[in-house]
Amino acid sequence: QQAKREQKFIYFYSAGLDEQHLRKLTILELLQTAVEKDELTVLLQPKIDCATGRIQGAEALLRWHNQQLGFVGPDEFIPLAEQSGLIKSLTRWVCEQSVKVLEQLQPLPKDFTLSVNLSAVDLLSNEVISLIEELEQQYPQLSQHLVLEVTESVLVEDPETAIERLNWFRNRGYGVSIDDYGTGYSSLAQMRQLPVTELKIDRAFVQLLATSPVDQSIVRSTIQLAHELSLSVVAEGVEDEQSWNWLKQQHCDVLQGFYFSKPIPFEQFNQKLQGESDA
Ligand code: C2E
Ligand code: MG
Ligand code: MG
Ligand code: MG
Repeated sequence: QQAKREQKFIYFYSAGLDEQHLRKLTILELLQTAVEKDELTVLLQPKIDCATGRIQGAEALLRWHNQQLGFVGPDEFIPLAEQSGLIKSLTRWVCEQSVKVLEQLQPLPKDFTLSVNLSAVDLLSNEVISLIEELEQQYPQLSQHLVLEVTESVLVEDPETAIERLNWFRNRGYGVSIDDYGTGYSSLAQMRQLPVTELKIDRAFVQLLATSPVDQSIVRSTIQLAHELSLSVVAEGVEDEQSWNWLKQQHCDVLQGFYFSKPIPFEQFNQKLQGESDA
């Protein structure tokens, strides 16, 4: 009887694995032609100046719609693209689109910054250098407007190369941001070795700020420490006005979140931005 039950369990367990495995394989196969089939889009989520509530910049976020699979979220396909190396061609595409965004936002505010996400694979490969050099040919002021977001995971794999790459970006004038800060295993002390300009507090600590004293303590001390290290602080996942008010009192620099705007298409973003400059 017991053996029978176990057998049944194993059967369902492996059937579940097969299904998951099949979906992964399907995603990887279909993702390979996503660029050429024009299935990708970049959405822009406004980054808001905390003190004034005005748009300061945007984060470029990738979207994929496939005929067979429908919409697949980046949280599902990005990790697979990273494992397979496909991420490099996706990053190239997002960066190329980002240059177009900068070219097409007219007039572009002098201090406007567009953030793109780089995965550890991108940062550790040297292709990213030739990609950026190529884009600078097309858009010489790129380093003034582009911010590279990386996660703490870059420190795990190969800290030396990561630091070398980040220095290369910093020396050319690019902003470098530590994304999802607080979810990795590194301490702010370790982070201090990294040539970065910005710390982005993960939305896990931000979403419930208004009612969570523990999250308030974490965010308050993170802002203080970051400022002591001369880093700009972004809070992501701001969903209500109370959290904004609280973050303003703590002198947080930049906010991102559904309270202000979800990620939106270029046209809509451009209208918002130009609407503000007319006001
Ligand atoms: P991320 O870089 O931390 O981006 C922020 C994510 O939080 C976005 O999810 C955004 O839509 C979401 N978000 C922003 N404000 C709020 C809020 O107030 N509430 C809630 N619930 N969510 C909010 P998205 O676009 O689904 O992206 C998920 C992750 O996928 C990104 O996290 C990033 O790690 C990765 N990703 C997206 N686009 C790219 C890309 O072009 N390249 C790479 N390497 N990764 C990307
Ligand atoms: Mg990001
Ligand atoms: Mg983030
Ligand atoms: Mg995230």
